[in-house]
Amino acid sequence: LDNVSKVYRVGAFGGKALYAVNNVSFEVQKGEVVSLIGESGSGKSTIGKMILRLLNVTDGKITFNGTDISTLEGEALKEYYRQVQGVFQDPFSSYNPIFKADRIFKVLHEEFFPEVPGAEWQKRVEHALSSVGLNPMHVLNKYPHQLSGGQLQRFLIARALLLDIQFLVADEIISMLDASTRIDVLNLLADLKSRGLSILFITHDLSLAYYISERAVILYKGYVVEQGAVERIFHTPLHPYTRMLMESVP
Ligand code: ATP
Ligand code: MG
Repeated sequence: LDNVSKVYRVGAFGGKALYAVNNVSFEVQKGEVVSLIGESGSGKSTIGKMILRLLNVTDGKITFNGTDISTLEGEALKEYYRQVQGVFQDPFSSYNPIFKADRIFKVLHEEFFPEVPGAEWQKRVEHALSSVGLNPMHVLNKYPHQLSGGQLQRFLIARALLLDIQFLVADEIISMLDASTRIDVLNLLADLKSRGLSILFITHDLSLAYYISERAVILYKGYVVEQGAVERIFHTPLHPYTRMLMESVP
């Protein structure tokens, strides 16, 4: 992200300007997990959605492998979504798929892998679901909103796995899970990372960021107040806001 800003218009007649994200710059290298940390309303999800092209940037530029993503259309945009996907916590999020699971996988098949024979595709689907700890029989005839939070996370990760994506935006994906499911999903992410997947790990939980990522970007009121190695930020935070965050860690 290069000097990315987002201004929302709230209210009637063009509305009041809400500066949600201001001149944000950072990058995620291949195979790297970067945490995006900030309190509620600091602009984290807005950034995730701009990366996923669910929202346009107001100013600045987002590039993926050297290409300005705002220029992507048609086949090129489709190819982008073959490589970049997001997972959100809320089962009712309008950004999550709305079909039954088996239909979602059929759509993936038709759109992205028409050359793969049906039986082979079925095997891939079952393998992806099993590898995230889901029983295919239990999820394939359900809608995403009929899954539990933890099942939904894993389901969306399985969908991303099938696409064999390169970059995952993980927006608060485990904050609402119980302790053991959290560990499962974290281990799954660590496994994906070891296979070369890059992840933007959005969270307000510092200990999670410490556990999963090597670098962190600290966001405060839409501004990046500092970024760098997680190790360094933890032990010698430079910005007063980051220092305050650190003091709140038990
Ligand atoms: P949380 O930790 O609560 O998820 P966040 O850091 O993800 O917070 P955002 O969802 O990016 O925060 O919101 C940043 C700011 O933009 C907030 O002030 C929010 O109210 C505002 N905002 C978000 N989405 C919209 C929208 N569609 N229209 C107008 N304002 C919005
Ligand atoms: Mg959010």
